[in-house]
Amino acid sequence: MEAKQNITMDQLLYLLEGNEAEYLRDRAWAVRSRIYGNAVYIRGLIEFTNHCRNNCYYCGIRRGNSHAVRYRLSDEEIMECCHLGYGLGYRTFVLQGGEDPYYTDNRICKLIKSIRDKFPDCAITLSIGEKNRESYQRYFEAGADRYLLRHETADMTHYGKLHPPELSLSNRMECLRNLKEIGYQVGAGFMVGSPGQTARTLYKDLQFLRELDPHMVGIGPFIPQHDTPFGNCAAGKAEMTVTLLAIVRLLLPHVLLPATTALGTIEHQGRERGLLAGANVIMPNLSPKGVRKKYTLYDNKICTGEEAAEGLEGLKKSVEGIGCKIVCDRGDYRL
Ligand code: SAM
Repeated sequence: MEAKQNITMDQLLYLLEGNEAEYLRDRAWAVRSRIYGNAVYIRGLIEFTNHCRNNCYYCGIRRGNSHAVRYRLSDEEIMECCHLGYGLGYRTFVLQGGEDPYYTDNRICKLIKSIRDKFPDCAITLSIGEKNRESYQRYFEAGADRYLLRHETADMTHYGKLHPPELSLSNRMECLRNLKEIGYQVGAGFMVGSPGQTARTLYKDLQFLRELDPHMVGIGPFIPQHDTPFGNCAAGKAEMTVTLLAIVRLLLPHVLLPATTALGTIEHQGRERGLLAGANVIMPNLSPKGVRKKYTLYDNKICTGEEAAEGLEGLKKSVEGIGCKIVCDRGDYRL
C-alpha cells in the first residue's frame, strides 16, 4: 500500500503560488497510475430533488432562493434514470439532492432497495446531506454503499462565513465519522476559492482529510450563483483546483478523486486537466434532461454535452486523448 504523505504550510504556500506545477502534476499522475492504472471511473449522477431546508450562502438551491424552480423526481423517474444509465454502462448511481424533508427515511430506504434489487451489481452512492446516525445505518442496511458529504471547510470561522448559524462544522464532521464507522465508502471535500478561503483554511482542509482518510474527495471550484448572497463573488480558479487535486492525490494516494463538473464549467477541458493531475473519476449527469438546468447550484453549469451521461462516446474519446480509459465497473476504492 502506497504511504500517505504530509505537507507543511510553507510547502503548501509554495505550491499554491504555482511553483513546480508541472512536477507536482506529473507525480500525482504517476501515483494514480501505479494504483489505478489509466482507469477513469464513471458515476451516473441523479439529481433527484432540488428542494432544500438549508440556506448555505453559496448554493443556488438554498431554501431562501425564491427564484429556484423546484422539482422532485418520482421513484419511477429515478428507476428510469438507472435503467438508462445501466444500458449506457454505468455501474454506480449517485443519488444527490438538497436536504428535502419529503424524502423520509422510509422513502429513501424503499428507493435504495428497489435499485439494489434491480441492479445488484451496481454501487449506490447517496449525497443527501446531514442525517442522524440511525438514518445512515438504515440506508446502509437497505443497500447503500457509499456516501458523499463534503466537509466544505475544516476551519470553524470560515465554516461560519459560508453557512447560517444553525449549521455547524462539528456536526458535519460527526456525520462523516459516523458514516465511516458504519462502513460506507465515504467522500469528503471542499470548494476551491469559496469566499473567505485562505491558504491557512486550505491547510486545515488537507490536515482534516489526512486524519479522516476518506475513500473519495470531491474538490471543485466555487462558482457564484446570481441569486445567492455570494452572487457577486469571484469564482475559484481552475489552476488552483488542479494544484489541489494533485496535492490530495499525493497525500491520499488511494483516494477516488473526481474531476468535477464545476471544473469543466469554469474551463473548457477542465476535467481533462483534472485527470492529468491525478483525478480518476467523472460523474456525468444522468438526471432527466428537463430538470438538469433546475439543479442550479451555480451559474452556467454544463450538463448537455460530454458531461451528460448520454455523451459517453464523446467523453471516451476525449479521455483517451489524454492517455486514460473510461472503465465501466463499480470502481471501488483500492487498497
Ligand atoms: N445536500 C447535500 C449536501 O449538503 O452534501 C448534497 C447536495 S450539495 C448541493 C452538493 C455540493 O455542491 C456541496 O457539497 C457544495 O460543495 C457544492 N456546491 C454548492 N454550491 C456550489 C457553488 N456555488 N459552486 C460550487 N459548488 C457548489
